[in-house]
Amino acid sequence: MDYEPLITEAQIAERMPALAAEIARGLPDTREGLVVVGPLKGCLVFMADLSRALWKVGVAHDYDFLRLASYGKGTESTGKVQMESDLIHSVAGRPVLLVDDICDSGRTLTFARAHLLTRGAASITTSVLMDKPARRAVPFAVDHVGFTIPDAFVVGYGCDLAEALRGLPYIGLYKA
Ligand code: 5GP
Ligand code: MG
Repeated sequence: MDYEPLITEAQIAERMPALAAEIARGLPDTREGLVVVGPLKGCLVFMADLSRALWKVGVAHDYDFLRLASYGKGTESTGKVQMESDLIHSVAGRPVLLVDDICDSGRTLTFARAHLLTRGAASITTSVLMDKPARRAVPFAVDHVGFTIPDAFVVGYGCDLAEALRGLPYIGLYKA
């Protein structure tokens, strides 16, 4: 099945090095021990591409993950963020780059940032591939945004519809 592309593979590939360079400039001077943290599973494809783009601009890092869920099976957030699994390593005293596919209501990143601070992260920088500012339910300003998109439900490049379509290599518009 085809989905109308909102952001093509070529556009994502072109944006990635510039986004990584922007992140690199914005990181604190002490980036020793930088850990990139993403909430699974939506972060996966973006994090994989961003990781390699960061490497190319000289930003060494390792990874960790949270498992957060708020969407259930539908296209509307339930409004409640649940942590299904926690970080594997300690982030205490370390700079963190918190990344996700989309910032929508802002609840997931608000939850994740608060959790990382509780765990003693030294600093938290945020980046998302896509920002939907029109949808914010809680105020959250993302530091580095790949693309600002309108209020639409998107699929592909890690973004699912009831767990399907994550492997679609571009960002498509889902129309029910
Ligand atoms: P928030 O907590 O900001 O409302 O939503 C963040 C999470 O909801 C994202 O990590 C993403 O997994 C999911 N999400 C938000 N908007 C969309 C969308 O348009 N499509 C899909 N597939 N997931 C979305
Ligand atoms: Mg998500």
